[in-house]
Amino acid sequence: MAKYIGGDLGGTNVRAGIVDTETGEVTNLISVPTIAREGQDAVIRRMADLFLNVIKASGLKVSDIGGIGIGAPGQIDIENGRTIFLPNLYGNWVNAPVADKIKEYTGLSTYLLNDVRAITFGEWKFGAGRGARTMAVYAIGTGIGGGMVIDNHLHLGLDGTAGEVGHSMIDYNGPLCGCGNRGCLEMYASSPAIAAAGLKAVVQGWTTKIGELAGYDLNKITAKTVSTAALQGDAVAMQIYEQVGFYLGISISNTICTIAPDRIVIGGGGAQAGDLLLNPIRRTVKERVKLADPEKVTIVPAELGDNGGVIGCALWAYQQKEG
Ligand SMILES: [Zn+2]
Repeated sequence: MAKYIGGDLGGTNVRAGIVDTETGEVTNLISVPTIAREGQDAVIRRMADLFLNVIKASGLKVSDIGGIGIGAPGQIDIENGRTIFLPNLYGNWVNAPVADKIKEYTGLSTYLLNDVRAITFGEWKFGAGRGARTMAVYAIGTGIGGGMVIDNHLHLGLDGTAGEVGHSMIDYNGPLCGCGNRGCLEMYASSPAIAAAGLKAVVQGWTTKIGELAGYDLNKITAKTVSTAALQGDAVAMQIYEQVGFYLGISISNTICTIAPDRIVIGGGGAQAGDLLLNPIRRTVKERVKLADPEKVTIVPAELGDNGGVIGCALWAYQQKEG
């Protein structure tokens, strides 16, 4: 049994806890604000202090901890523990030596991984992906992140960018995406896309509970507002999830044709509508996948929630250090 720290660097908060690598249990979870505007050095220092505080709170000694894994939102130089590009984090994170600096401050070996690859690894080992041989994760949030396990290995690909399912193309002439391409999945099925569809329905005066649930304040309409309305049986909100599920189903059908997974895991805040989202995904996959047998692909919700990334990057650090 080994204890590793898992840390999740987000745009708003940094979260960390101690992970038991045998059971996946997370303890002493602490969250602090990222305050990215203070710059890279201040954020790295705050992360190091957080990790040391987590250890202190647990009553363990630094020497009881095997190492630290950090999930970061963007492209990572995994081998050298540096961030290459973090598009959603304020400041300059190009080539930032995060792992070396955290090791310098804490004395613990530190490893970096993309945040959704970390969720993928966590869900595969201890969550909805347990026992899968080949799987893909779609995490629906501000964007749509992803990750893939192929034949019992976390698949990282060229520069660790494998699994960027949010930038698979739904329509090659579609709207411009933040990545520079057109018609990426996340333009149609991310949380902001769901919120925008809800907003449009309210502005157009359709009969829906979405406006009421947001207190008739258009700024307060989020994906959660739309999913709450859908779960209460609101026809407009249910139709939005039907459409979003169709788009996800198209991308997932392409993924199934590419890697022939036995499982697809759907997570992230945008997946809160549950079967209202999963059913149109399943239906689309059955209609659109003709080669691999779609009946053998189970499409399930993520199980680890917010802890998936923390668990996954701690396990990643464990695997990197102790093989
Ligand atoms: Zn894109």
